[in-house]
Amino acid sequence: MVDETEIYLDECPASPIGHILALRSSVEGASDEAPYLGMDSINDVTIYLTHACNLECKHCYLSAGRPLSNELSADDWLIILDKLRSLGVKYIYLLGGEPTLLVRRGLLRIISHAKDLGFYVSMSTNGTLVNREVALQLRRAGLDQVQVSIDGPNPAVNDVIRGVGSFDKAVKAVGVFREVGIAVSLSYTVIPDNAYYVIDMVRLAERLGVPVLTFIRVQEFGRALDNGLYLSDEMARRVVDDLLRIKTNVKLVLNGFRFGLSNIYEAYRKSRERLNALRIINYNTCPAGRSRFVIDSDGSVYGCELLMGKAFYEGNALRDNLRIIWRDGFKSFRNRNYRDIKPCNTCPMADLCNAGCPARAFSVFGSINSPDPYCPMVKGLINKAR
Ligand code: SF4
Ligand code: SF4
Repeated sequence: MVDETEIYLDECPASPIGHILALRSSVEGASDEAPYLGMDSINDVTIYLTHACNLECKHCYLSAGRPLSNELSADDWLIILDKLRSLGVKYIYLLGGEPTLLVRRGLLRIISHAKDLGFYVSMSTNGTLVNREVALQLRRAGLDQVQVSIDGPNPAVNDVIRGVGSFDKAVKAVGVFREVGIAVSLSYTVIPDNAYYVIDMVRLAERLGVPVLTFIRVQEFGRALDNGLYLSDEMARRVVDDLLRIKTNVKLVLNGFRFGLSNIYEAYRKSRERLNALRIINYNTCPAGRSRFVIDSDGSVYGCELLMGKAFYEGNALRDNLRIIWRDGFKSFRNRNYRDIKPCNTCPMADLCNAGCPARAFSVFGSINSPDPYCPMVKGLINKAR
């Protein structure tokens, strides 16, 4: 019997920390430590090991497929991990492209070095290349947890988005990860094609014995933008309403759905109360350059994967001094202030929202010193201006 479903809301559509911590606490039990919500020191780094991928998912924000021409070697990544350790990073999140394409090209060495250094290591995979032997190798290397991407509760829904046969292979991967003892969560990117199946997906997670399921609102970047994939507010609201009604033991993590809540002010009030109780005063919707950054497969450092362009380049993790990058870099994110942005400067929720997601602001207005275009107040202004 389930009294109340555990739901975690994170407006940042890219940060992995919600699902990493939800799964970690499912496996290790509740910790006395406050959940990491601070924005004052580096907590997690996301590493794009390769842009190569064996699938071509319709919504991939990275437009993954082919590797970059100058991707780093495993030896390079070991050096970078040493640097990250001395910076005080706690969580490493590995993804691609598809990281398991590198199982024979250094992935296991990278994971085991990260574990020797004391990192908590999570990895994202499409699961299609994972058999028992691969899962065992990852387990022996020390991988703490894995997130498998499935975008539908059955092959009919999933395979149109991710490719023929990908559902069955991903479900098998979940089974072998569980068998060998690696903690598994699932992720589901919500696009118009699969928005009506979220409840069925929760039931699938229950049947597979997976304790955490993350729903990510599709963001209009990369192939999602090319394919015109946009989740309307009505659809987003329906997804959130459906998930708020369901009773399940599976912990649900929602990335990028806050503006889809029917009562956004109530959500703000609850978040404010919780943060006050935890004495956290510096919360910000956007963790880029505050508690996280990302490293692309050629070593380039950025605040966020949705803003991996020249204007947001911070240096190279292999060649440059990461300490100096962390100390002096990420200015565009760190200097962004809601007081300089309309209508956020008069918004009662701005102390938590901080003008929302800079990447979405940049993609619509051409500057991150603009408000989040997903916000209903901002949409109202855009509509008025039309
Ligand atoms: S810009 Fe910030 S809030 Fe937006 S996706 Fe990137 S890290 Fe998340
Ligand atoms: S007006 Fe600005 S600060 Fe207020 S909720 Fe919208 S984006 Fe956030």
